[in-house]
Amino acid sequence: MRGEDGRFEDRLGDWDPRDFEAHGREVLGLIRDYFEHIRDVPVDRSPTPEELFALLDSELPEKAEPFPAILDDTREKVVPNVTHWNHPAFHAYFSISSSFPGILAETLASALNVNAMLYRSGPAASVLESIVLRWMAEMVGYPASADGVLVNGASLGTFYALAAARDSVPGLDVREKGLAGRDVPRLRIYTSDQAHSSVDKAAIALGVGLENVVRVPSDEAYRLRPELLKEAIKSDLKGGFGPMAVVATVGTTSVGAADPLEEIAKICRARDLWLHVDAAWGGFWNLAAEVREHAEDLSLGDSMVVNPHKCLYAPLEVTCLYCRRCDALPNTFRLVPDYLKTSPEDGGVDYMNYSLQLGRSFRALKLWWIIRSFGRAGLERRLAESIRLARWLEDAVSAHPDFECPASSPFALVCLRYFPRDLRAEWERATPERKAGIGRWVDEINAELLEELNGSGIAFASHAMIREGYVIRVAIGNIRTTEADMKRLWDALRRLGPTVAHASRETEGTI
Ligand SMILES: *Cc1c(COP(=O)(O)O)cnc(C)c1O
Repeated sequence: MRGEDGRFEDRLGDWDPRDFEAHGREVLGLIRDYFEHIRDVPVDRSPTPEELFALLDSELPEKAEPFPAILDDTREKVVPNVTHWNHPAFHAYFSISSSFPGILAETLASALNVNAMLYRSGPAASVLESIVLRWMAEMVGYPASADGVLVNGASLGTFYALAAARDSVPGLDVREKGLAGRDVPRLRIYTSDQAHSSVDKAAIALGVGLENVVRVPSDEAYRLRPELLKEAIKSDLKGGFGPMAVVATVGTTSVGAADPLEEIAKICRARDLWLHVDAAWGGFWNLAAEVREHAEDLSLGDSMVVNPHKCLYAPLEVTCLYCRRCDALPNTFRLVPDYLKTSPEDGGVDYMNYSLQLGRSFRALKLWWIIRSFGRAGLERRLAESIRLARWLEDAVSAHPDFECPASSPFALVCLRYFPRDLRAEWERATPERKAGIGRWVDEINAELLEELNGSGIAFASHAMIREGYVIRVAIGNIRTTEADMKRLWDALRRLGPTVAHASRETEGTI
């Protein structure tokens, strides 16, 4: 309720529900306006912390402030100073996007504020979690009968899976006895030199240690080399180490490669080694027919993570962790103190038993809304369109004499660089020393090109250092990205490439 001067009156309790609805409409208006004009603003304006503290910092507010003032500050000072991950021209890291059904469901979920720890503490939340997990398993080709749980991020999902893998090593019993001060072999985790840093983080937290993450070299297409994996395990066994798990990646971070799961799974099976598949970004591309045809079989993983907050248009944070070794996750994480004991309910799942999290938000609702709003076929069409846009850009880049794609992904990720044709021709014939010199110059030019592109506000991309050198990574997959957005990006690259190179040749002379 407001006082006579229109200001929010200090009183106990929450806002009046009618005020809530009125303010809610204003927030929805802001969101509508945001999306209707999103192409008019740069993806990122790189404000400095100093600038933002000056703009946003204040003394701890003593008195209640009227909501319009808070909303105005948010509109004018906060919104313009975030990086617009929902911008159709955001192609950095992994393009993620929150769709409208996901945004609305998130609002409703916070209104209900269900704590989805036990079946009894939120029956419909628990059942919907089981249902959406089954639907998504079906989408990516993982067994629908597997255990699953929604967690907050693939990094944590991989950590939980590897904790379960550690507990399934026969005779180790780390859950009860711990690792320190015991005569047990040093545990080893195998993954490729392209795997995500979350594997290392899991090794840190699990007491395995960074030294015991064995980075197996990848091949020329950046896929883990199974024959080298086999050798590494064999030599570790001889050396008295305890192989614990293999982590394969479908959709690597630098170039979007997919490890050969069938050969890797065969090696794991022969040694009874746990195979965890990190399909955080790559998994949902299986929905697109073109990808599915040649896709790796994710069901080969004993456990698997895939991120609806990456490619399934769900707002952050929601990751599916699946485990086909049934009961392995609860065997690691079930610990029920007396105050949480409830009478067992047939078919009802207590999801607190599947990870470290006790209090859990109602993440299933947004997925239920998104999948029902677009349908499996609608999701397939959207993902297929992103794949088409990626192929379009890749073809355009490859056909241009001054650009190239040094690496290729089966998914919607394009790694490209500017490499002027005269230098490219010279490079082909050059001595190793001269090759290295040209390579360094091309790296620098592309770093500058990326900076110019991102500074232009036209699009926002990121980079990777791969064996060929510095590449600009363009990840595609935002639900609002269109062919016109891709053309704008490609026009900008073609315009900026020669400009940047020309300036560099002018100042530095011939390289
Ligand atoms: C994004 C990503 C991760 C990390 O996921 P979070 O949900 O941010 O923790 C891990 N592995 C791969 C391959 C990824 O693409």
